[in-house]
Amino acid sequence: MTDSPLGLYIHVPFCTVKCAYCDFNSYAGIEDLQSEWETAALNELSLWTPRLSDREISTVFIGGGTPSLLPGSSVRRMLDCVRSALRLSPDAEITLEANPESVESSRLAIYRAAGVNRVSMGVQSLDASELVFLDRIHSAERAQQAFREIRAAGFDNVNLDLIYGLPGQSLSTWQSTLEQVLHWNGSGPDHISCYALTVEEGTPLAARVAAGHVVEADPDHVAEITDWTTEQLTQAGYEQYETSNYARDGLRCRHNLIYWRNQEYAAIGPGAHGFIDGIRFHIVRSPRMYIERLRQIGAAFSGIAGLPSPAIAEAERVGELENLIDMLTSGLRLMEGIDEAALPDIYQQIRPVLDWAVENGLALRRDGRISLTRRGHAVANEIFVRLLEPDQT
Ligand code: SF4
Repeated sequence: MTDSPLGLYIHVPFCTVKCAYCDFNSYAGIEDLQSEWETAALNELSLWTPRLSDREISTVFIGGGTPSLLPGSSVRRMLDCVRSALRLSPDAEITLEANPESVESSRLAIYRAAGVNRVSMGVQSLDASELVFLDRIHSAERAQQAFREIRAAGFDNVNLDLIYGLPGQSLSTWQSTLEQVLHWNGSGPDHISCYALTVEEGTPLAARVAAGHVVEADPDHVAEITDWTTEQLTQAGYEQYETSNYARDGLRCRHNLIYWRNQEYAAIGPGAHGFIDGIRFHIVRSPRMYIERLRQIGAAFSGIAGLPSPAIAEAERVGELENLIDMLTSGLRLMEGIDEAALPDIYQQIRPVLDWAVENGLALRRDGRISLTRRGHAVANEIFVRLLEPDQT
């Protein structure tokens, strides 16, 4: 049995409203599929039993979409099935994503009794006009109340997601949002994720930008907000451990660390991505097709690339160079950086890019590890593009 942690991601595709900036695999208006989604997901989980019989699940992340729309009983059945079909570590981190408008005390109590021990809530902003711009349907008051309810239900590991760098956003509007959440319930959340808004292709927001109706924020202004945010959160006792993530008292997100450290995770639910035994795979995106594929499981089904789910759309063994680039692009997002000595020999092909980053003050080497400097984090994408074309450096 391997000691390396193994995560499990469960995708819940339901949302009340589809936000203009969102490119996640989530849908509004398909709540009628909830019970069939659950049946399919429970079936899919059981299919993983033989494949994962010698592995212990360290983290479960119920993400979406808006998992807090699920009835408590649905989450309970899901986690009971994880326990009976797979080997769940007794100290597993079990996260459920929530949105303020669907947080409900009675459901929270059931989630907690079912084993959920971490809640990650999408607050994004407390400014009324920004919330409208983002198509978010909660108010600042509702978000604060939801946080109170989460704490009252006994959750002592709570993340809040915030977005900055919105078109026209002033530093003071962002400061106001961040300073308020830091004082919610006296001491604020245990973990904060602060993401700079990115305009994702194919979203309504991208169409508005292309039509000239929305002008993206100036990158220098966004960089100024990023610097202020890091300083503010550090002073408030949060450790920045990843480009956009800050945690208190060692409460880093163990599940996301699995992604950033290029470790393994199984995945179920429409559109979910997984990585097992060197194979990256993703499940069909359409919730209806997902349900259909899992309805038709028959004895004749022998798996895709050795993986057990008939809902897998694609599965591919990752080549050595590709895996190394995945390792670098995700690992360099972490402040801990990467142990260079543990990298495979093929790293020598790419090493000149990181030598260039060190020479230019974008990365530093210390105690055998290489990590990005603050300036390096600000231009990480530029470094990552060079990793794909090392000859251009
Ligand atoms: S609530 Fe979250 S997952 Fe749902 S549409 Fe909005 S950003 Fe996307």
